Amino acid sequence: MLSEVCPVCSSPLFEIGGEMRCLRCDKPVVRVREESEVYVASTPLVLTQLENAIVAKLDALTALLQQTTEPEEIKQLSETLSSLVKLFHESRKLGETFRKQ
Ligand SMILES: [Zn+2]
Repeated sequence: MLSEVCPVCSSPLFEIGGEMRCLRCDKPVVRVREESEVYVASTPLVLTQLENAIVAKLDALTALLQQTTEPEEIKQLSETLSSLVKLFHESRKLGETFRKQ
């Protein structure tokens, strides 16, 4: 077991076959040296947090949409929901490129 922890799930890392691996994520983890690498390593975590936040907002806004009969409010809520759904898709797409590694 190494002193470093996984940037995604914070589990302790293990050195297996010359590379650092997170057993929980079942993925190799690259040792972080520079600021930009920190950013890349933490991106899947940031995206997951973003997706969780979007889902929570979708839930809250859907509840509001169910309650309102005000056309202007329905329009605003629909537009907001639409952009949240788009953002969610973009985040999932971006996340896939990291999850494939
Ligand atoms: Zn992990």
